[in-house]
Amino acid sequence: MTVLVLGGAGYIGSHAVDQLIEQHYDVAVVDNLQTGHRDSLHKKARFYQGDIRDKTFMESVFKKESIEGVLHFAANSLVGESMQQPLQYFNNNVYGTQITLEVMQQFGIKTIVFSSSAATYGEPKEIPIKETAETNPESPYGETKLMMEKILKWCDQSYDMKFVALRYFNVAGAKLDGRIGEDHSPESHLVPIILQTALGQKEELLIFGDDYNTPDGTCVRDYVHVVDLVEAHILALNYLKTGNQSAVFNLGSSTGFSVKEMLDTARDITGKEIPAKVVSRRAGDPSTLIASSEKAKMILGWKPQYTDIKKIIASAWNWHKTSPLGYNDIKKN
Ligand code: UDP
Repeated sequence: MTVLVLGGAGYIGSHAVDQLIEQHYDVAVVDNLQTGHRDSLHKKARFYQGDIRDKTFMESVFKKESIEGVLHFAANSLVGESMQQPLQYFNNNVYGTQITLEVMQQFGIKTIVFSSSAATYGEPKEIPIKETAETNPESPYGETKLMMEKILKWCDQSYDMKFVALRYFNVAGAKLDGRIGEDHSPESHLVPIILQTALGQKEELLIFGDDYNTPDGTCVRDYVHVVDLVEAHILALNYLKTGNQSAVFNLGSSTGFSVKEMLDTARDITGKEIPAKVVSRRAGDPSTLIASSEKAKMILGWKPQYTDIKKIIASAWNWHKTSPLGYNDIKKN
Protein backbone atom coordinates (compact mmCIF):
# COMPACT_ATOMS: atom_id res chain seq x y z
CA MET A 1 0.00 0.00 0.00
CA THR A 2 1.14 3.45 -0.92
CA VAL A 3 1.24 6.86 0.72
CA LEU A 4 0.43 9.57 -1.82
CA VAL A 5 2.31 12.80 -1.12
CA LEU A 6 0.78 15.85 -2.80
CA GLY A 7 3.36 18.60 -3.19
CA GLY A 8 6.13 16.08 -2.51
CA ALA A 9 8.76 18.07 -4.44
CA GLY A 10 8.36 21.14 -2.22
CA TYR A 11 10.42 22.06 0.83
CA ILE A 12 8.38 20.22 3.45
CA GLY A 13 6.96 17.62 1.06
CA SER A 14 10.41 16.47 -0.07
CA HIS A 15 11.51 16.00 3.54
CA ALA A 16 8.33 13.97 4.13
CA VAL A 17 9.01 11.75 1.11
CA ASP A 18 12.57 11.16 2.29
CA GLN A 19 11.55 10.27 5.83
CA LEU A 20 8.71 8.00 4.68
CA ILE A 21 11.08 6.09 2.40
CA GLU A 22 13.69 5.82 5.17
CA GLN A 23 10.94 4.27 7.28
CA HIS A 24 10.13 1.79 4.46
CA TYR A 25 6.84 3.25 3.24
CA ASP A 26 5.98 2.94 -0.44
CA VAL A 27 5.59 6.49 -1.76
CA ALA A 28 4.02 8.14 -4.81
CA VAL A 29 4.31 11.88 -5.36
CA VAL A 30 2.17 14.41 -7.19
CA ASP A 31 3.65 17.85 -7.83
CA ASN A 32 3.13 20.44 -10.57
CA LEU A 33 6.72 21.71 -10.06
CA GLN A 34 5.42 25.27 -9.89
CA THR A 35 7.58 25.82 -6.81
CA GLY A 36 8.90 22.29 -6.20
CA HIS A 37 12.12 20.71 -7.47
CA ARG A 38 12.37 17.42 -9.30
CA ASP A 39 15.88 17.00 -7.85
CA SER A 40 14.61 17.13 -4.29
CA LEU A 41 12.78 13.83 -4.77
CA HIS A 42 14.05 10.57 -3.39
CA LYS A 43 14.84 8.12 -6.21
CA LYS A 44 12.52 5.49 -4.74
CA ALA A 45 9.43 7.73 -4.97
CA ARG A 46 7.21 7.30 -8.05
CA PHE A 47 6.65 10.76 -9.48
CA TYR A 48 3.58 12.10 -11.30
CA GLN A 49 3.91 15.62 -12.60
CA GLY A 50 0.57 17.39 -12.63
CA ASP A 51 -1.77 19.72 -10.83
CA ILE A 52 -4.11 18.68 -8.01
CA ARG A 53 -6.82 20.86 -9.61
CA ASP A 54 -6.75 18.64 -12.71
CA LYS A 55 -9.34 16.00 -11.86
CA THR A 56 -8.62 13.72 -14.83
CA PHE A 57 -4.93 13.70 -13.94
CA MET A 58 -5.69 12.99 -10.27
CA GLU A 59 -8.05 10.15 -11.21
CA SER A 60 -5.32 8.61 -13.36
CA VAL A 61 -2.91 8.61 -10.40
CA PHE A 62 -5.49 7.09 -8.04
CA LYS A 63 -6.21 4.44 -10.67
CA LYS A 64 -2.56 3.43 -10.98
CA GLU A 65 -1.64 3.44 -7.30
CA SER A 66 -3.04 1.47 -4.35
CA ILE A 67 -3.30 4.44 -2.07
CA GLU A 68 -3.87 3.96 1.64
CA GLY A 69 -3.54 7.57 2.70
CA VAL A 70 -2.74 11.06 1.47
CA LEU A 71 -0.29 13.62 2.82
CA HIS A 72 -1.35 16.96 1.37
CA PHE A 73 1.35 19.65 1.10
CA ALA A 74 0.35 21.07 -2.29
CA ALA A 75 -0.53 24.72 -1.65
CA ASN A 76 0.65 28.28 -2.04
CA SER A 77 2.04 29.31 1.31
CA LEU A 78 3.14 32.94 1.46
CA VAL A 79 1.23 35.35 3.68
CA GLY A 80 2.51 38.45 1.85
CA GLU A 81 1.81 37.10 -1.63
CA SER A 82 -1.68 36.04 -0.57
CA MET A 83 -2.48 39.66 0.33
CA GLN A 84 -1.63 40.62 -3.27
CA GLN A 85 -3.12 37.57 -5.03
CA PRO A 86 -6.01 36.29 -2.89
CA LEU A 87 -7.84 34.61 -5.76
CA GLN A 88 -4.77 32.59 -6.73
CA TYR A 89 -4.70 31.31 -3.13
CA PHE A 90 -8.39 30.41 -3.04
CA ASN A 91 -8.07 28.67 -6.38
CA ASN A 92 -4.95 26.63 -5.69
CA ASN A 93 -5.46 25.88 -2.01
CA VAL A 94 -9.23 25.58 -1.59
CA TYR A 95 -10.27 24.38 -5.04
CA GLY A 96 -7.21 22.09 -5.22
CA THR A 97 -8.22 20.49 -1.92
CA GLN A 98 -11.81 20.17 -3.12
CA ILE A 99 -10.72 18.22 -6.21
CA THR A 100 -8.38 16.06 -4.12
CA LEU A 101 -11.23 15.18 -1.77
CA GLU A 102 -13.64 14.48 -4.64
CA VAL A 103 -11.17 12.01 -6.11
CA MET A 104 -10.45 10.47 -2.70
CA GLN A 105 -14.16 10.00 -2.17
CA GLN A 106 -14.57 8.48 -5.63
CA PHE A 107 -11.84 5.93 -4.87
CA GLY A 108 -12.94 5.27 -1.28
CA ILE A 109 -9.75 6.67 0.32
CA LYS A 110 -10.57 7.92 3.79
CA THR A 111 -7.30 9.09 5.32
CA ILE A 112 -5.70 12.51 4.83
CA VAL A 113 -3.07 14.43 6.78
CA PHE A 114 -2.69 17.99 5.63
CA SER A 115 -0.68 21.14 6.19
CA SER A 116 -2.67 23.73 8.00
CA SER A 117 -1.12 26.79 9.54
CA ALA A 118 -0.77 29.03 12.57
CA ALA A 119 -2.06 31.70 10.18
CA THR A 120 -5.56 30.29 10.85
CA TYR A 121 -5.46 31.98 14.28
CA GLY A 122 -4.68 35.58 13.31
CA GLU A 123 -3.58 37.86 16.15
CA PRO A 124 -3.89 35.56 19.18
CA LYS A 125 -5.58 36.62 22.44
CA GLU A 126 -3.49 34.20 24.52
CA ILE A 127 0.06 32.89 24.22
CA PRO A 128 0.92 30.03 23.88
CA ILE A 129 -1.82 29.33 21.35
CA LYS A 130 -3.89 26.22 21.93
CA GLU A 131 -5.94 24.44 19.27
CA THR A 132 -9.09 25.65 21.02
CA ALA A 133 -8.18 29.33 20.45
CA GLU A 134 -10.38 31.44 18.19
CA THR A 135 -9.56 31.39 14.50
CA ASN A 136 -9.54 34.83 12.87
CA PRO A 137 -7.12 34.69 9.94
CA GLU A 138 -5.52 38.00 8.98
CA SER A 139 -4.51 36.93 5.49
CA PRO A 140 -6.10 35.14 2.54
CA TYR A 141 -3.48 32.42 3.05
CA GLY A 142 -4.69 31.77 6.62
CA GLU A 143 -8.28 31.94 5.43
CA THR A 144 -7.66 29.26 2.78
CA LYS A 145 -6.16 26.93 5.37
CA LEU A 146 -9.14 27.42 7.67
CA MET A 147 -11.51 26.79 4.77
CA MET A 148 -9.63 23.60 3.93
CA GLU A 149 -10.04 22.43 7.54
CA LYS A 150 -13.78 23.18 7.38
CA ILE A 151 -14.23 21.29 4.12
CA LEU A 152 -12.50 18.31 5.70
CA LYS A 153 -14.73 18.49 8.75
CA TRP A 154 -17.83 18.15 6.57
CA CYS A 155 -16.28 15.34 4.52
CA ASP A 156 -15.71 13.48 7.79
CA GLN A 157 -19.31 14.09 8.81
CA SER A 158 -20.82 12.97 5.50
CA TYR A 159 -18.34 10.46 4.06
CA ASP A 160 -16.52 9.30 7.23
CA MET A 161 -13.28 10.60 5.75
CA LYS A 162 -10.76 11.02 8.58
CA PHE A 163 -8.29 13.88 8.65
CA VAL A 164 -5.53 15.33 10.72
CA ALA A 165 -4.90 19.03 10.19
CA LEU A 166 -1.44 20.04 11.37
CA ARG A 167 -1.20 23.74 12.10
CA TYR A 168 2.42 24.57 11.43
CA PHE A 169 4.17 27.42 13.11
CA ASN A 170 7.43 28.52 11.42
CA VAL A 171 9.14 25.63 9.72
CA ALA A 172 12.89 25.89 9.16
CA GLY A 173 16.06 23.79 8.95
CA ALA A 174 17.10 21.07 6.53
CA LYS A 175 17.81 17.36 6.40
CA LEU A 176 20.80 16.82 8.67
CA ASP A 177 22.95 15.29 5.92
CA GLY A 178 22.44 18.48 3.87
CA ARG A 179 21.08 16.57 0.83
CA ILE A 180 17.78 18.45 0.70
CA GLY A 181 16.73 21.83 2.05
CA GLU A 182 14.74 24.98 1.45
CA ASP A 183 14.90 26.49 -2.04
CA HIS A 184 12.20 28.99 -2.99
CA SER A 185 12.46 31.43 -5.83
CA PRO A 186 12.00 34.22 -4.96
CA GLU A 187 12.74 33.46 -1.30
CA SER A 188 10.59 35.19 1.30
CA HIS A 189 11.18 33.22 4.50
CA LEU A 190 13.27 34.63 7.28
CA VAL A 191 15.84 31.86 7.90
CA PRO A 192 16.88 31.30 4.26
CA ILE A 193 16.99 35.06 3.64
CA ILE A 194 19.26 35.59 6.64
CA LEU A 195 21.55 32.80 5.40
CA GLN A 196 21.55 34.05 1.79
CA THR A 197 22.62 37.40 3.21
CA ALA A 198 25.39 35.62 5.13
CA LEU A 199 26.53 34.11 1.82
CA GLY A 200 26.58 37.55 0.20
CA GLN A 201 23.75 36.63 -2.21
CA LYS A 202 21.58 39.35 -0.70
CA GLU A 203 22.92 42.71 0.35
CA GLU A 204 21.03 42.98 3.62
CA LEU A 205 18.19 41.55 5.63
CA LEU A 206 15.13 43.79 5.70
CA ILE A 207 13.54 43.54 9.14
CA PHE A 208 9.83 44.06 8.65
CA GLY A 209 8.93 46.43 11.49
CA ASP A 210 10.41 47.03 14.96
CA ASP A 211 7.37 48.74 16.44
CA TYR A 212 5.42 45.63 17.42
CA ASN A 213 4.34 45.03 20.98
CA THR A 214 7.16 42.53 21.63
CA PRO A 215 10.30 42.76 23.84
CA ASP A 216 12.57 44.12 21.05
CA GLY A 217 9.78 45.41 18.78
CA THR A 218 10.30 42.78 16.05
CA CYS A 219 7.87 39.92 15.38
CA VAL A 220 8.14 36.79 17.49
CA ARG A 221 7.71 33.37 15.90
CA ASP A 222 7.94 29.73 17.00
CA TYR A 223 10.41 27.84 14.79
CA VAL A 224 10.09 24.08 14.33
CA HIS A 225 12.64 21.86 12.60
CA VAL A 226 11.38 20.36 9.33
CA VAL A 227 12.55 16.87 10.37
CA ASP A 228 10.50 17.05 13.59
CA LEU A 229 7.54 18.49 11.70
CA VAL A 230 7.57 15.64 9.19
CA GLU A 231 7.78 13.06 11.96
CA ALA A 232 4.46 14.41 13.26
CA HIS A 233 2.89 13.69 9.84
CA ILE A 234 3.98 10.08 9.96
CA LEU A 235 2.63 9.76 13.51
CA ALA A 236 -0.63 11.37 12.34
CA LEU A 237 -0.94 8.91 9.47
CA ASN A 238 -0.56 6.01 11.89
CA TYR A 239 -2.94 7.64 14.34
CA LEU A 240 -5.63 7.66 11.62
CA LYS A 241 -4.74 4.18 10.39
CA THR A 242 -5.40 2.82 13.88
CA GLY A 243 -8.98 4.10 13.76
CA ASN A 244 -8.76 7.37 15.65
CA GLN A 245 -10.95 10.44 15.19
CA SER A 246 -10.20 13.43 13.01
CA ALA A 247 -8.22 16.08 14.85
CA VAL A 248 -6.32 19.35 14.65
CA PHE A 249 -2.84 19.71 16.17
CA ASN A 250 -0.42 22.60 16.52
CA LEU A 251 3.20 21.91 15.62
CA GLY A 252 5.73 24.25 17.10
CA SER A 253 8.54 24.32 19.63
CA SER A 254 6.60 26.29 22.26
CA THR A 255 9.34 28.95 22.38
CA GLY A 256 9.32 32.28 20.60
CA PHE A 257 12.24 34.06 18.94
CA SER A 258 12.18 37.59 17.57
CA VAL A 259 13.49 38.48 14.11
CA LYS A 260 16.45 40.20 15.81
CA GLU A 261 17.19 37.13 17.96
CA MET A 262 17.15 34.93 14.86
CA LEU A 263 19.56 37.31 13.16
CA ASP A 264 21.94 37.36 16.16
CA THR A 265 21.90 33.55 16.40
CA ALA A 266 22.65 33.25 12.68
CA ARG A 267 25.54 35.73 13.06
CA ASP A 268 27.00 33.48 15.81
CA ILE A 269 26.58 30.28 13.80
CA THR A 270 27.87 31.57 10.47
CA GLY A 271 30.53 33.91 11.87
CA LYS A 272 29.32 36.45 9.28
CA GLU A 273 28.29 40.02 9.83
CA ILE A 274 24.88 39.74 8.03
CA PRO A 275 23.92 43.38 7.39
CA ALA A 276 20.33 44.29 8.27
CA LYS A 277 18.05 47.31 8.36
CA VAL A 278 14.59 47.95 9.72
CA VAL A 279 11.85 48.78 7.20
CA SER A 280 8.08 49.08 7.58
CA ARG A 281 5.81 46.23 8.64
CA ARG A 282 4.75 43.55 6.16
CA ALA A 283 0.97 43.39 5.72
CA GLY A 284 -0.72 40.38 7.30
CA ASP A 285 1.94 39.66 9.97
CA PRO A 286 0.65 39.07 13.52
CA SER A 287 3.13 40.27 16.19
CA THR A 288 3.58 37.02 18.13
CA LEU A 289 2.84 33.40 17.27
CA ILE A 290 3.89 30.77 19.79
CA ALA A 291 2.35 27.32 19.85
CA SER A 292 1.25 25.09 22.61
CA SER A 293 2.10 21.69 21.10
CA GLU A 294 1.04 19.70 24.15
CA LYS A 295 -1.86 18.09 22.30
CA ALA A 296 0.41 16.64 19.58
CA LYS A 297 2.80 15.38 22.25
CA MET A 298 0.03 13.81 24.34
CA ILE A 299 -2.12 12.30 21.60
CA LEU A 300 0.29 11.62 18.73
CA GLY A 301 3.25 10.92 21.01
CA TRP A 302 5.23 13.58 19.13
CA LYS A 303 8.74 14.11 20.53
CA PRO A 304 10.47 16.95 18.67
CA GLN A 305 14.25 16.52 18.87
CA TYR A 306 15.68 19.67 17.33
CA THR A 307 13.98 22.34 19.40
CA ASP A 308 17.16 24.33 19.96
CA ILE A 309 17.09 27.27 17.54
CA LYS A 310 20.87 26.93 17.05
CA LYS A 311 20.39 23.41 15.71
CA ILE A 312 17.65 24.57 13.36
CA ILE A 313 19.76 27.40 11.95
CA ALA A 314 22.92 25.23 11.82
CA SER A 315 21.19 22.55 9.72
CA ALA A 316 19.82 25.22 7.36
CA TRP A 317 23.30 26.77 7.13
CA ASN A 318 24.80 23.38 6.27
CA TRP A 319 22.38 23.13 3.31
CA HIS A 320 22.84 26.74 2.11
CA LYS A 321 26.64 26.58 2.41
CA THR A 322 26.92 23.37 0.43
CA SER A 323 24.19 24.23 -2.14
CA PRO A 324 24.33 28.03 -2.40
CA LEU A 325 22.28 27.90 -5.60
CA GLY A 326 19.82 25.41 -4.14
CA TYR A 327 18.85 22.57 -6.49
CA ASN A 328 20.58 24.33 -9.40
CA ASP A 329 23.84 23.26 -7.76
CA ILE A 330 22.70 19.66 -7.56
CA LYS A 331 21.79 19.56 -11.25
CA LYS A 332 25.35 20.57 -12.12
CA ASN A 333 26.86 17.63 -10.18
N1 UDP B 1 10.73 38.65 8.14
C1 UDP B 1 11.54 39.75 8.05
N2 UDP B 1 12.29 39.91 6.89
C2 UDP B 1 12.25 39.03 5.86
C3 UDP B 1 11.40 37.88 5.98
C4 UDP B 1 10.65 37.73 7.12
O1 UDP B 1 11.61 40.58 8.94
O2 UDP B 1 12.93 39.25 4.84
C5 UDP B 1 9.91 38.44 9.35
C6 UDP B 1 8.40 38.41 9.08
O3 UDP B 1 7.85 39.70 9.15
C7 UDP B 1 7.91 37.50 10.21
C8 UDP B 1 9.09 36.55 10.47
O4 UDP B 1 10.23 37.18 9.88
O5 UDP B 1 7.69 38.24 11.38
C9 UDP B 1 8.91 35.19 9.83
O6 UDP B 1 8.51 35.37 8.47
P1 UDP B 1 8.45 34.20 7.41
O7 UDP B 1 8.09 34.83 6.11
O8 UDP B 1 9.71 33.41 7.49
O9 UDP B 1 7.30 33.25 7.94
P2 UDP B 1 5.74 33.54 8.28
O10 UDP B 1 5.72 33.98 9.72
O11 UDP B 1 5.23 34.56 7.33
O12 UDP B 1 5.11 32.21 8.10
